[in-house]
Amino acid sequence: MPTFDQSRYKGLIYKIAIPSPLRGLFDYLPPETKQAIDNGMRVQVDFGHRKVIGFVISRAEESELSREELKPILQIIDSEPIYSGKLLNLLEWCSQYYQHPIGDVFNAATPIKLRSARTIYQQETFYKLLSNNASPGPNGLARAPRQKALIGYLENKRNITKKEIISKGFSNTVINTLEKKGFIKSYIRDSKPQSEFASIVRNSSKGPELNSEQQKAIDHIRAQGTGYNCFLLDGVTGSGKTEVYMQIMEDHLTEGRQCLILIPEIGLTPQTVSRFKNRFQCSIATLHSGINSNKRFEAWSQARSGASAIIIGTRSCVFTPAPNLGLIIVDEEHDGSFKQQEGFRYSARDIAVMRARKENIPVILGSATPSLESLYNARKKKFIYLSLSQRAGAASQAVASIIDTANEALDNGLSEQLLFKIEKHLSANNQTLLFINRRGYAPVLNCIQCGWVAECSACISQLTVHAEPPSMHCHLCGKTHHIPNICPQCKLNKLSTLGVGTQKLERVLNSKFSNYPVIRIDRDSARSERNFNAMLEQIQSRDPCILIGTQMLAKGHHFPNITLVAIVEADSGLFSPDFRGSEFMTQTFIQVSGRAGRALRAGEVVIQSRHASHQALTHLLTSSYNEIAQRIMDERRLTSMPPFTQLALIRAEGPQLKSTIDLLKKVKLCSEEILQPLSSDIDCLGPVPAPLEKRAGRYRSQLLFKAKTKSTMQQFLCELVYRIDELKTPNRLRLSLDVDPLEMI
Ligand code: ADP
Ligand code: ZN
Ligand code: ZN
Repeated sequence: MPTFDQSRYKGLIYKIAIPSPLRGLFDYLPPETKQAIDNGMRVQVDFGHRKVIGFVISRAEESELSREELKPILQIIDSEPIYSGKLLNLLEWCSQYYQHPIGDVFNAATPIKLRSARTIYQQETFYKLLSNNASPGPNGLARAPRQKALIGYLENKRNITKKEIISKGFSNTVINTLEKKGFIKSYIRDSKPQSEFASIVRNSSKGPELNSEQQKAIDHIRAQGTGYNCFLLDGVTGSGKTEVYMQIMEDHLTEGRQCLILIPEIGLTPQTVSRFKNRFQCSIATLHSGINSNKRFEAWSQARSGASAIIIGTRSCVFTPAPNLGLIIVDEEHDGSFKQQEGFRYSARDIAVMRARKENIPVILGSATPSLESLYNARKKKFIYLSLSQRAGAASQAVASIIDTANEALDNGLSEQLLFKIEKHLSANNQTLLFINRRGYAPVLNCIQCGWVAECSACISQLTVHAEPPSMHCHLCGKTHHIPNICPQCKLNKLSTLGVGTQKLERVLNSKFSNYPVIRIDRDSARSERNFNAMLEQIQSRDPCILIGTQMLAKGHHFPNITLVAIVEADSGLFSPDFRGSEFMTQTFIQVSGRAGRALRAGEVVIQSRHASHQALTHLLTSSYNEIAQRIMDERRLTSMPPFTQLALIRAEGPQLKSTIDLLKKVKLCSEEILQPLSSDIDCLGPVPAPLEKRAGRYRSQLLFKAKTKSTMQQFLCELVYRIDELKTPNRLRLSLDVDPLEMI
């Protein structure tokens, strides 16, 4: 179209990532100020009727828009790129791989404070001597002794800040005059690292003597050098994986390289940080959602400037800039919390591996229950497999058994046998952990007269009864409701709770074992870090007590005095509709059991189930994780599911179920148009209503794509998203794409 071509603007433009649901980059003219612009810097621009902050991604010589349609950049916020080089490249890769708008990817990766133009990344003015200072020559400064002295001071020095120069007694005038005369030049950049951690020292705590498996794993990692390799450290709970991490970290820290450690939950930070602090004397930046945005930005800045030797945090920490990064570790790599489930849906574990590849540094994925994806990659020799099969030190694996509750009337979810065991372990001065993955008082409120059940008005879901304060909560949408006095249906006073949650267990155990403290750890009780830490401390005190915990407690914690772990109700895990259900159940079970007998005392694990002879349960008792994983892997191969295939899930949400299904039918038609010429390397399943059909007042349905390889999927999705963008999506409907979905609910 020649007419179109003529209207194209030719000249320097900048391509900018702006947080917006629109895909692609936006073209802007250079600012009027003529300041230098580098890729990765933040700029302020007019966007629609708003002023927004975007990131400069690249420059180009022409735009598809005309001169009139282009606006200039209003302001350059940073004098130094926030992201540069490999990290900038990684973020662009993320946008492509997850088919997510690039502006939104940058937004998700960046601390909230940097979304304001007022926050400027902390920088300082530095001075250096110019080499071409021949004219008029230093000798020409004979009558300006202070200026001459400053030149002498700067000679053979690098990175001298203005502050340092002033502290040596030079005045602003001297500095400015020399700069005007062209002897010295100022430049602005990140503040100097506060600590020179090339001289890092190990603290007195030297760590235990390694066992042969640990030594072998460490030797193997060391032998591969400092370039990219992905190691899968498959080590049973308590086998000393953290010890392996710390030895490898020490190698990098002593060479002045930063280490980035990703952990699954906020709850795990204090414990992990204190272990690192005991071992290393260096600055540690902690980044997770439990700290406020100022502190988070501070930690980020420390990492960004190179001052933090160790950077530790949850999911989004994977994007933290670190100029001297030498090593990445993903602890509990199988954990679902590494997957972002809303907005920019990404896997921090997968991105960590990609980042290590781009930075050409090693990455270690550690777990007692590696994901099938990682085991598969190890089998295909993409990852280097390292195993720690024994518990470290003197601890031994716990003994496990099942309590068949099919024919027993349980006392608030507890069998007589379990109560007896709790008593036995407590009176032997040990601690007991009861695992129940259900917070609140009871999962159901119903009427024993007419069968009415309390349901959330916005979701197809039952309401959970909470005791403090008495109320009913929807765990899907977060809505709370009053508990009715009488049944809304038959008007009789016959309401009763059904089932057991953490709060009910807490009450029951408090009355049955009144001589022992009962500590409940779930999302409600551990809301503040202070509370959570206080509870952890009480547990570390080693006095006998009963712990009640959800998923939160199943991970990574090291509680040396727990000898009995009970899974109060295993049945809900046995009948999951999700194809990963059996993988998740096995991992949770093994992680929870791993809390038993971690020190010198022998541990015991019991599972209560009404389906005691279910194969999945009996396998847990008789097989190792790897044997079970192998079985699940065989099933996945037969059903062509991941890791043997790649999945992408498109969800539609809207006010009626039918409209969401209709929209997905249109998406399916688009996909068929794309797929026809390719024959079919891609299967399309659906659309069907999602397992969680209604949530927060909106109906949900889904369409699943399955491809044999990542590259086929990528090629296909690239086309599909553009077609979808062209679809006229009705106003109240929303589509989202989840590449490598973890849960299909
Ligand atoms: P994991 O991370 O695999 O669950 P940890 O690294 O937390 O295991 O180790 C469990 C416990 O064993 C810790 O108290 C740790 O200090 C201890 N430990 C680790 N390695 C050894 C070893 N070689 N000898 C003795 N104790 C060890
Ligand atoms: Zn009723
Ligand atoms: Zn709800």
